[in-house]
Amino acid sequence: MEYSGPSELYVDGEWTDAVSGETLQTFDPATETEYATVALAGEEDVRRAVDAASRAAERGSEWTELDPAERGAALRRMADAIEERKDEISLVESHDNGKTPFEAGMEVQMVIDTFRYFAGWTDKLTGEHNPVPGDRLNYTTREPLGVTGHIVPWNYPFQLAGRSLAPALACGNTAVVKPSSQTPLSALYYGLAAEEAGLPDGVVNVIPGSGSEAGAALAEHDDVAHVAFTGSTEIGKRVMADAAQNVTGVTLELGGKGPHLVFPEADLGAAAKGIHYGIFMNAGQMCWAGSRLLVHEDVADELVERVVEGAESTPLGSGIDDDGRMGPVVSEDQREQILDYIQTGVDEGATVACGGGVPEDKESGYFVEPTVLTDVTNDMTVAREEIFGPVLSVIEFSDEEEAIELANDSPYGLLSGIWTEQLSRAHRVADALDYGMVSVNEYPVTFPQTPFGGTKESGSGREQGLEAVREYTQTKNVNVKLD
Ligand code: NAD
Repeated sequence: MEYSGPSELYVDGEWTDAVSGETLQTFDPATETEYATVALAGEEDVRRAVDAASRAAERGSEWTELDPAERGAALRRMADAIEERKDEISLVESHDNGKTPFEAGMEVQMVIDTFRYFAGWTDKLTGEHNPVPGDRLNYTTREPLGVTGHIVPWNYPFQLAGRSLAPALACGNTAVVKPSSQTPLSALYYGLAAEEAGLPDGVVNVIPGSGSEAGAALAEHDDVAHVAFTGSTEIGKRVMADAAQNVTGVTLELGGKGPHLVFPEADLGAAAKGIHYGIFMNAGQMCWAGSRLLVHEDVADELVERVVEGAESTPLGSGIDDDGRMGPVVSEDQREQILDYIQTGVDEGATVACGGGVPEDKESGYFVEPTVLTDVTNDMTVAREEIFGPVLSVIEFSDEEEAIELANDSPYGLLSGIWTEQLSRAHRVADALDYGMVSVNEYPVTFPQTPFGGTKESGSGREQGLEAVREYTQTKNVNVKLD
């Protein structure tokens, strides 16, 4: 499919070239060929976009004057506009990122659901009455923050932009979205959706650009009230420091090294399936990947055998004109990094139970075989660092306490999985895990209604659910002396 979607910046309700005239070429990771050329935003474009978003957020503007229920209707119209283009966006995402159209379709559907969910919040942003002493009326209101910046990674480019954009808009803010320069295309469809939904100019702005220039300029901008950053822990720390210069609030959704804890009584068939999707979906390029399999020694051999069987029978391909179920990784660099990690694992004592390299039958595309490493210990590099590829590290344990210790012994704390048929064990272990999210007998799973985020180096703040409503509003306290 030739790219025929939007290829300019979307600023102040208009499609425009970058001030510098610079453009960016994208490549299809499945074919290694050029796919699209889009305008590349620089610092000047960030300023233009933030100015437009600031005007749209001013007191008395069309957007701030909209009735809350009408704002909800606008979000629903955005959801409808996205739904109408679901197949097109999925295919574009597939060509841009490498994931299969099936996987991209799940991403787009999650966005549609997210916009519809947050559309329901617009007229429920209530405050409280505070019972203070004396003859006074004291209450709180929830107000929008103003201009919100959204800095998005390449692994779920459409969904992660929508995940923070929808609540930000629902709460009455305006937005500047900066997708990754590796996958700039799908986010531009938010410009189209905003246009089709009739949002006032400047409420949504989309500016593909490099992280070091456009991303940094957005994080540092004085008029940005909040930055929603999703990406690596390293860059998240930098964004937090940049935003701190203006005391700008941040939501940080960063890396992960998710553990599965599989106990001897677990349903191994269900566990093998969850473990498979948790590490091979999106070619393992997921913050919430279940990349560490902690398994009780009594069932380790049987479970590993099942997981290896699933890995070896996964057809690799783009999924566009073949039956591929796992696509390529996003770039050659990414593939090299993953292969280096596998080599490091082997050098440190791990055994390759399956995969471990590049598939022989692929002439092009950045494919990596689904890989399972056994004989891993929790101090090895492959158990500590986020590989961001289809590589599972297997570590055995002998009792519950050891499993909990191994799981918590990580710099990260995003999603963890428990596999057990014992109710009391499920709750006891969930309570002991130092993770932002715990899922029992299912992996990976999230909903627009449920908070998403992590502890430790996996980030701070939460997206989705009621938590996101708190994240994108501020509380005002009003005190009235009554006589
Ligand atoms: P990255 O940190 O390299 O880039 C993320 C975004 O930040 C991109 O838009 C990039 O252009 C921008 N950026 C880069 N340098 C910047 C700077 N100095 N200032 C401002 N912005 C800058 O991450 P990536 O490689 O695109 O994505 C992979 C990472 O994202 C992984 O670590 C993964 O775990 C994480 N991630 C986290 C979540 C989550 O919800 N916790 C979800 C998906 C991905």
